[in-house]
Amino acid sequence: MNAAVPAQGVPDLAGPVPIGPCVLLKHGEVFLKGRNRHLFVERLHDNLRGALRGVPGSVWIKEMQNVTVLGGDAPQDELIARARRVMGFVAVQPALRVETSEEAIVAAAVGALDGAAPGTTFAVRARRRHKPFPLTSTQLERLVGARIQEAHGLPVDLTRPDIRVEVEIDRKESYVSGLRHFGQGGLPVGTSGRALVLLSGGYDSPVAAHRAMRRGLRCDFVHFTGAPYTNAASAFKAYALARELNRYQPPGKLHIVALGHAQKQLAVAGAGRFQVVGQRRLMVRAASVLARRLRAQAVVTGDALGQVASQTLSNMALVDEAATLPVLRPLIGWEKQEIIDEARRIGTAEISVLPDEDCCQLLAPRQVSLRTKLEDVAGFEKRLDADELIEEMLASAQVTRPGADEAAPAVTPAPGPVRTTG
Ligand code: ATP
Ligand code: MG
Repeated sequence: MNAAVPAQGVPDLAGPVPIGPCVLLKHGEVFLKGRNRHLFVERLHDNLRGALRGVPGSVWIKEMQNVTVLGGDAPQDELIARARRVMGFVAVQPALRVETSEEAIVAAAVGALDGAAPGTTFAVRARRRHKPFPLTSTQLERLVGARIQEAHGLPVDLTRPDIRVEVEIDRKESYVSGLRHFGQGGLPVGTSGRALVLLSGGYDSPVAAHRAMRRGLRCDFVHFTGAPYTNAASAFKAYALARELNRYQPPGKLHIVALGHAQKQLAVAGAGRFQVVGQRRLMVRAASVLARRLRAQAVVTGDALGQVASQTLSNMALVDEAATLPVLRPLIGWEKQEIIDEARRIGTAEISVLPDEDCCQLLAPRQVSLRTKLEDVAGFEKRLDADELIEEMLASAQVTRPGADEAAPAVTPAPGPVRTTG
């Protein structure tokens, strides 16, 4: 018998999967990984186990080639919602596991269309992992299709079906699924290394963080406030954003750093219309120092080329010049509307929209310099001791790990299931 174990220690199932409902998780790019594949799959499963922490009931996972099977007596909706946030799975499909026999597969496939509205079109797609199965994939697709038509009188549409019934045939067990939710796709978090995200309160940087995680970067976060000259609203916002983002990865840390004092010093040193780029340079310089301490290899920002006055190519180049680690800008070619749509999808938009007191507005000059050269900043930067300012700032940073100790994180209601077509 397969022992049911609480989700904390989600076991790998060695023996056959129990007959009944389960969830199929289709691997994305992980399957391109050739000889390193097992490392990617191990990380994928570690992250999955982490995401299942605190799920009520017992859970097990089983690895098959390019697919992970997830089951247990935990509520299936909850398993689906959690798995949908794990980077590396392209599709999350509730399924029924049956023994490998024509009758059992047909019965499950007919059952998958119970309750479908009259006129709903369908197609059957079969895949044989176990080649000795007596029917070819095409023969099985025809057989199952014919039996569904008999039972429900529904029309077949092979090109754009409303419902695609998928059958996966293994030696002893087969899986039948009529529903597919999108997963996050991408690579398992941690397989590309670590990065430090400059997280502000806007729409952009949380989306940039999500993209970085989706390419396998494990992220920590840094947020600069205008303290002591601004209130705590932006720090609360950054906390809420980091907590939301941490639901896509093993939770990273948030560092809240007070920049206000250094901003004043820049102004006193005569930054003038170069105040904003001066601040930005100080931010990435401090972030580079912090990133090295966290053993991160890059910093990530939410910049999009030309989106606001400060995001010209020359200003970005000048910011890069101050950084001592690569500055990654995942949104460089995105339009604002695309970013907002994505922020809605990943669940950060409703936090970003809240009002705050952004440190960048503090001491902002009436006119921002569009084309800044190194000579423009060299003069006033010489008048401050940036290293010392950075040490002071980092020494008094507040560090938390948002969302890490939520025993059972709230599960975002999954958007309506997508019944796929190809
Ligand atoms: P966002 O929507 O992410 O706030 P934005 O459109 O407001 O971006 P800017 O304010 O120019 O653009 O900021 C560009 C990037 O610099 C941000 O995406 C973020 O990565 C970083 N950044 C800006 N302000 C802060 C801050 N207070 N703390 C940390 N990072 C910041
Ligand atoms: Mg901003």
